[in-house]
Amino acid sequence: MTHYSRREFLRKTGGIALLSAWGLPLGATTSTKTKGRVIVIGGGYGGAITAKYIRLADPGIQVTLIERDKHFISCPLSNEILSGEPDIKSLTFGYDGLRQHGVQVIHAEAQAIDPVKKTVAISDQKTLAYDKLVVSPGVDFQWDAIENYTPEVADTQMPHAWQAGPQTLLLRQQLKHGGWWFGMYYSPA
Ligand SMILES: Cc1cc2nc3c(=O)[nH]c(=O)nc-3n(C[C@H](O)[C@H](O)[C@H](O)COP(=O)(O)OP(=O)(O)OC[C@H]3O[C@@H](n4cnc5c(N)ncnc54)[C@H](O)[C@@H]3O)c2cc1C
Repeated sequence: MTHYSRREFLRKTGGIALLSAWGLPLGATTSTKTKGRVIVIGGGYGGAITAKYIRLADPGIQVTLIERDKHFISCPLSNEILSGEPDIKSLTFGYDGLRQHGVQVIHAEAQAIDPVKKTVAISDQKTLAYDKLVVSPGVDFQWDAIENYTPEVADTQMPHAWQAGPQTLLLRQQLKHGGWWFGMYYSPA
């Protein structure tokens, strides 16, 4: 029976399918010459995993990840914080692991994409060129959809906690001590 390392497996299956479908050439993995430039916008689960596995599939491809935050706080398992465990630090991750895979991580805001010139404008008035682009910025809110529900209200009074972090901790406090909405709906007769 033939045994494959993870890198070999990726190259022979998903990695090959993804990269060849994109038109990026695949070849000897030991080459240090850049075969193509991939930019990934967003370093959440989607973007980080994509960046890592492109590098595992072919280290000859230059992968640049653009992520605005220096740390990622995982939403999965953040529900457990509401009941007191685990500490939010256990859900907080930096990007050094991706750097070890050869991903160039830039902490900046992606501001505009020019699909004709194949460039991404980022904060600090820099522009980066790509051959292939992955856009993985997650979800965001339509703040005008609910009257008076603003980012400030979400941060201080009525946390949605859909992006794990300080709002998760605020929601935990409110659940522990009784939030205003519990008082509203469950006020004793
Ligand atoms: C409370 C909660 C619990 C969950 N539990 C689970 C679970 O148990 N299992 C599960 O599978 N899923 C769970 N999910 C869903 C899961 O969190 C999401 O499906 C996942 O995070 C989506 O990944 P993503 O990479 O698409 O987006 P995100 O994780 O939101 O990442 C997007 C990233 O892009 C960055 N970004 C956005 N715009 C820009 C920009 N312009 N420039 C630079 N960076 C930018 C953001 O800073 C962010 O880091 C949960 C979600 C919530 C809210």
